Amino acid sequence: MTANNSYSTCPVCFESTEMKLENEKSPEIKHLFSSDSAFIGPGKERSVTDTYAFSGEGYPNFWVHIFPICPKCCGTGLVVDSEDFTKLQSEVKMATENMQNIIKAFSKEPSVLKEHAERLTYVLTPLIIRRALRLVETPARHSYARYLANLFNLVI
Ligand SMILES: [Zn+2]
Repeated sequence: MTANNSYSTCPVCFESTEMKLENEKSPEIKHLFSSDSAFIGPGKERSVTDTYAFSGEGYPNFWVHIFPICPKCCGTGLVVDSEDFTKLQSEVKMATENMQNIIKAFSKEPSVLKEHAERLTYVLTPLIIRRALRLVETPARHSYARYLANLFNLVI
């Protein structure tokens, strides 16, 4: 796919943060510390609680980070003026609403919530980010897409 230069910065993520585009010289960001699971950078819908701590016998406590990612820019920090991107936006919006319903429905049943969270974290989120990165060739530095691409080792 050729680079799409017809983009604008995300009105949600850029509200109060100055973001920069990644370029080829940017170092690969590879931080996989536990604090990353509480990611609050640009591209994150800050009003949504999406990090859950789980503990159980026989294994160490761990965090599962579930989206929603920003439905407006799909986590890339940029909004692309194309039909495909508009389609992705509506899919992310739908996934976000489903996720919020799941969180609400299973908030008192951590084991079920954990199962959903893992599926979304390992399956759905990388899928969305892969598609977003195909449409936005250069995601914003420190954007959610960049973070997740590193986290899941996605090839951009
Ligand atoms: Zn955004």
